[in-house]
Amino acid sequence: MFGESFRLFRILGFEIRANVTWLFLALLVTWSLAAGLFPFAFPDLSPRTYWLMAIVGMFGLFFSLLFHELSHSVVARAFGLPVGGITLFLFGGMAEIQAEAKRPREEFWMAIAGPIASVVLGAAFYLVSVLMLLLGVPDYIAGVPLYLGFLNILLAVFNMVPGFPMDGGRVLRAALWHLKGDLRWATLWASRFGQGFGLLLVALGIYSFLLGNFVGGMWWFLIGLFIRGAAIASYRQVDTQLALKGQTVRRFMTTDPVTVPAEATIREFVDDYLYHHAHDVFPVIRDGKLLGRISLRHAKTVPRADWDRTRVDDVCRQLPEEFTVDADSDAAQALDRMQQNQSGRLVVTENGRIVGILVLKDLLRYLQIRSELERA
Ligand SMILES: [Zn+2]
Repeated sequence: MFGESFRLFRILGFEIRANVTWLFLALLVTWSLAAGLFPFAFPDLSPRTYWLMAIVGMFGLFFSLLFHELSHSVVARAFGLPVGGITLFLFGGMAEIQAEAKRPREEFWMAIAGPIASVVLGAAFYLVSVLMLLLGVPDYIAGVPLYLGFLNILLAVFNMVPGFPMDGGRVLRAALWHLKGDLRWATLWASRFGQGFGLLLVALGIYSFLLGNFVGGMWWFLIGLFIRGAAIASYRQVDTQLALKGQTVRRFMTTDPVTVPAEATIREFVDDYLYHHAHDVFPVIRDGKLLGRISLRHAKTVPRADWDRTRVDDVCRQLPEEFTVDADSDAAQALDRMQQNQSGRLVVTENGRIVGILVLKDLLRYLQIRSELERA
């Protein structure tokens, strides 16, 4: 959603990535510390000192965001939820927890872990700063951990705002879910608070911009838009999950899918399949079992002169497991899988035999009709 991300390293088994937009945040923070906060708090130092302090501060921010997201991830993993890694981006950090909590209690601990971690880290930075002063370290050097202590407390407070997708919104959702036993209703209200908070930030951003604080105003405006969008998306996702829950893939799949026999020649594949059907990729079968996939791209690797003597199974590629789904598995899981590998089609199998194709369009059509009927 924010463009390319780069792998940085692995820690505690989680992959840590930085989105390109993180670079922008890092530069902005470094600049605002070096040219704003530090010269204001500790006047009459050299520019070089301010920039060094700012760079240390920026790495401290990186560590603080990582620490916060790691605590979410560790708790999620302890509850058996899959974690796809941690990404730092324009607005901070994001732990990619790829499934919803099964119980309110799990949701609560997963959400509260982040702010607790930030408060603990904030207190630790504050202690370091006090110790430095007691040991006679110059006050501007002790000012860096003091700033980081303050930053972590701010991070905890901001995240405890009770609106989705903030941690506080998840805590609120867990509480409402626990009270009424209705996950959809709980998510709806947590999402509404989140949308309201997002709009509030947008308004504050505009106000601040009009007062002449251009960078800060823009910043809050964008964060507000992001939070509002994320709040809406989170509710939609839960709504979809609940609508599809308990329904099998079999119900939505298209039976008798077009498949290419492994022994067909490339010429047959091009003439009888590529030209005849509006698909780009075709499943390849041998004796009724799924062998792999073939596409226009694979056919193009064969010179035209060899089309009659090259067989489909000479060039077809293995179909990765994440592009297949079992006929009796949950449709909600299948939708997750499509989102994860960004493909609109999954090959449906049963005991290794291909029995159908699941198309995203059909799932979405079902959801749309269902929601229209509910509104009536
Ligand atoms: Zn958090």
